[in-house]
This record gives sequence, C-alpha cells and structure tokens, in this order.
Amino acid sequence: MGYGREIYDAAEKILRERRRTAEEDVEKRKAAFHKRCPEARRIERELSSTAIRAARAVLGGKDAALQLRNLKTENQSLQAEIARLQRETGFDDLGPRYRCSRCRDTGYVDGKMCGCLKDLLREESYRRLNELTPLSLSTFESFSLGYYSDENLGDRPSDRELMRDHLRYCVDYAGHFTTCSPNLIMTGSTGLGKTHLSLAIANEAIQKGFGVVYCSAGSLVSKLENEHFGRCANDGTSDSLQNCDLLILDDLGTEYKSSFSSSAIYNIVNVRLLLKKPTIISTNLTMKEMVEIYSERFASRIIGSYRRIVFVGRDIRQQKRMQRAN
Ligand SMILES: [Zn+2]
Repeated sequence: MGYGREIYDAAEKILRERRRTAEEDVEKRKAAFHKRCPEARRIERELSSTAIRAARAVLGGKDAALQLRNLKTENQSLQAEIARLQRETGFDDLGPRYRCSRCRDTGYVDGKMCGCLKDLLREESYRRLNELTPLSLSTFESFSLGYYSDENLGDRPSDRELMRDHLRYCVDYAGHFTTCSPNLIMTGSTGLGKTHLSLAIANEAIQKGFGVVYCSAGSLVSKLENEHFGRCANDGTSDSLQNCDLLILDDLGTEYKSSFSSSAIYNIVNVRLLLKKPTIISTNLTMKEMVEIYSERFASRIIGSYRRIVFVGRDIRQQKRMQRAN
C-alpha cells in the first residue's frame, strides 16, 4: 500500500505528539513523586554517582573487579529502596505510558511498520478524501418527510409513506452497520434526498469507528486520474477507495465521461464486490441509462449485488426556493 509523503508526514507528526505527551506525563509524575517523597531525590543522586564511580574504578585498574562488585550491590540496594518508596507512595509506575505499547509510539517494531501507524495513515487518507464533504450537516433527524406528498394514491402508497419506509430502512442500516452490510443503490431524480440519507449513514458509521470514504463520482474520477497519470503525489486514493469499510459513491453519472472514467468506476465497484465490502451508490440515472453509459456488465453487477432504493417526490431544493420566494 502506498501513500504520499504528505500523508506520512501528517502521521509522523501525530506520533511525535504522542511521544511528547507521554514524556511530559512522565516528568509530571516524577515531580509529584519527588514532592511526596523528597528522600527519593537523594537516593537517585546516589544511584547516578554509583555509575560515575564504576567508570572510575574501571579506569583506576587496581582492584577494579572487587570495586565493581561492591558498586553493583550498592546500586541494586538503592534501586530496591527507590522501588519500595514508589510502592509506598503509590507511584509504582513512573515509566512512559505510550498509546501503543508495541512500538512505543515510534510507528515501527523491529524495522516493520506497526499497526498503529498503518491505522493513522489510513485515517489520514480518508480524512483527506472526505475533506470537502459537509458530513455534519446531514443527519437522520434533519431529514424532513414534510417535503414528500401524502396525497392518497388509492391502493398505492403515497410518496411520504414510501419515503418513510426508506428512511426507516436507512436508519436501521446505519444503526446495524457492519462490514458485512449489503450494498445499496439509491436512485431517483435530483433533489429527493439521496445525498442527505447517504451522508447520514456515513455519519453514523464514522461515529461507530468505521473507515468511511465519501466521494462524488466526479471527484473520484479526477483523483484517480491524477494518481494514474502521476500528476500528484500518490495519496493511496485507489487503495482507500477499494479497502475502506464503507464507500459512498455519490452522484454516479455526473462525472466527465471517458473510457478512463467508466473503467475506473467499474473497477472500484467490482473490486469491492470481490472483497465483499459494502458500497452505497446514489445516482439520477435509470438502469437503462446505466447500461448505455457504462456497460451491460456494470449494470448487471449492480442489479445482482445491490439493494435498490427508489426515491420519489418533487425536487426539495426547488420546494425550498419556492417557500423562500413566497
Ligand atoms: Zn504502534
């Protein structure tokens, strides 16, 4: 897996900060221990003097072995004394408390990258992909069913009834989200709340600690293009898109169409199906248009492996504009 220099730098900075916090915390606890137990300072000074005397003994030559043995015994008894004082005053542990005890917040264990650094790199890459998304604005609570008509349609459910079912389904989907959740495709014309509900799902999944990437089809294609043609540092975009716990691909069909874009999108969707990782797609396209724009193969993958949610009603943005005008 490859990330760009900037992502590594950001992760290293976080690790540096973690080490600094751990070290400062040690100093604070030591100071508190010394305040509680001033005698400890004297013993610690004696301890460091044994080290200096040991060095002298070695240089002095005569009886060095005997002197060193004595100093070792003295050192051990001083250490035991310190340990006793620590125990008695409740300062047993004065060592650094690292966030990750395996790598001591350095990011590497025996020259190999530690899991904590891998997590940081992944989080940073997701954060960058999600940077421009107004995630916090879209919640289930702010989704209003009032914009959908409750006109009686005889034996058919009203728009509002249909949308209430969809809302319930999405709330439940988010509430029980796991990496085994089904794929969803939200279809319907512009302004019916597809983005709102997919963002609300993203929000909840993020809060549960899942790695979520939210991307419009347009920005996904341009990011992959930049990466593919080497126009910018490799930020691990395709890796993140393929491997995140939940990918939300918004506004499929609005991206600039080219053979690169359709194969890039097919590829991401296909790899995620193979890896069995959930994806949510929202689109204004009908299934027929999807066959025309992408391919029969792409559309049949979607039909076979995605649960379809059809949004109904009248453009909410337009309704809001009309309300403001009146
Ligand atoms: Zn670690």
